[in-house]
Amino acid sequence: MENFKDLKWYSQFFRKCSKCGTCKSAYSYGPPPTNATICPQGEYYKLDSYYGSRSKSFLGHAILENKVDLTDPAIQEDMQRAIFSCNVCGGCQSQCMLDYKPWICDYIEEMRHHLVNMGIGPTKAEKAYQEKIVKDHNPYGETHSSRFNWHKDVKDLKTDGDTVYFAGCTASYRRTEIAKSTASVLTKLGEDWGVMAENEYCCGSPLLRAGLREEPEKLAQHNVDYINDQGFKTVVTACSGCYKVLGKEYEKWWGLKLKAKVMHTSEYLEEKMNKGGLKLNKVPATVTYHDPCHMGRHLNHYEVDWDGKKQWKGAFIEVDKPGLYEAPRNVLKAIPGVELKEMYRNRDNSFCCGAGGGIKASYPDLALNTAKTRVEEAENVEGVQKIISPCPFCVTNLGDGAKALGSKVETIDLIQIVDQAL
Ligand code: SF4
Ligand code: SF4
Repeated sequence: MENFKDLKWYSQFFRKCSKCGTCKSAYSYGPPPTNATICPQGEYYKLDSYYGSRSKSFLGHAILENKVDLTDPAIQEDMQRAIFSCNVCGGCQSQCMLDYKPWICDYIEEMRHHLVNMGIGPTKAEKAYQEKIVKDHNPYGETHSSRFNWHKDVKDLKTDGDTVYFAGCTASYRRTEIAKSTASVLTKLGEDWGVMAENEYCCGSPLLRAGLREEPEKLAQHNVDYINDQGFKTVVTACSGCYKVLGKEYEKWWGLKLKAKVMHTSEYLEEKMNKGGLKLNKVPATVTYHDPCHMGRHLNHYEVDWDGKKQWKGAFIEVDKPGLYEAPRNVLKAIPGVELKEMYRNRDNSFCCGAGGGIKASYPDLALNTAKTRVEEAENVEGVQKIISPCPFCVTNLGDGAKALGSKVETIDLIQIVDQAL
């Protein structure tokens, strides 16, 4: 358990930012060397004060040292936009190589929390969904009871078993085809699985990303208590946001430990495949794969030299990458007829879909602009017919981008193509 730290604590790291600007683009020495844009916020606003984690270190100094008058409503508005229009995608974090690196995403969210405490956040849209989540346990303003409408199409649905499918809000309310495909896949594989039914609440991700703390803790406590009490052995989710929050953040922030193993559907399927339990039929398609930030670079683990024995106190030593980069790709490659072609930006250097970090609700033009950029990147890969992503939120935003562009490239969830192949 790490507990939340305040801005002053993070200042020991963001003060080490050398302002080199490496975080403004994705660069790899190769071979072959590559260079590409990585920061959706900076690309949209084209302002240095918005670009990458360098800008956030400037703003952290300004806030802590009272260099800006945060009682001035015009400055409050500017500061809110600068901090809350970041996707917290981690693209900048994956580029930085100084001691600031391990803390970047957590620090940006702490900046948001700091502004929330000053009454300068969350955004209007985030406040609206905060109320909806408190009332109905979902950010979409739908009733809690309608969360389970998708269940009606699933035969013999249970609320017990070895495995519980945590659908999450987006698949339950907005992308029910993804929830139904997940149910269909689990059933076709003969798994002993069930759902939480009325006991499934929002995982808390939208609130955590907005710098809020109290409500997500209550949601976490509820979900953990129920899953532990029911004795499920595995929690499987098809959403990258739920995966990160359930698998990492409940314990990290609040010490709330799930007894069940948390798995994304892609690693669940990969494990099944490695045991020889996945017989996939032909689906002819040329596809590309979009890495969701929350199940990729957000899961990177950083080793820090706390006692200074290896380098110096607080030195960033190395990064371990347990993020799910290969499992979804391995599942895709196992489907006969599927040809997987990579986009230029992938894995640690992937470009965000544009939706995360509260951006789809608070800054929809920025979210759409980013999605269009990503879809254009997919269109530039020769022959690609489909963008596959293992996250309903990415699928939705990229789909919106494709629609706005009039693109012929289809956007679907990984679980849908697996369902087709089974
Ligand atoms: S955050 Fe890291 S990469 Fe960006 S300017 Fe600072 S030291 Fe350089
Ligand atoms: S987290 Fe993403 S959007 Fe935010 S500054 Fe870093 S690269 Fe830009």
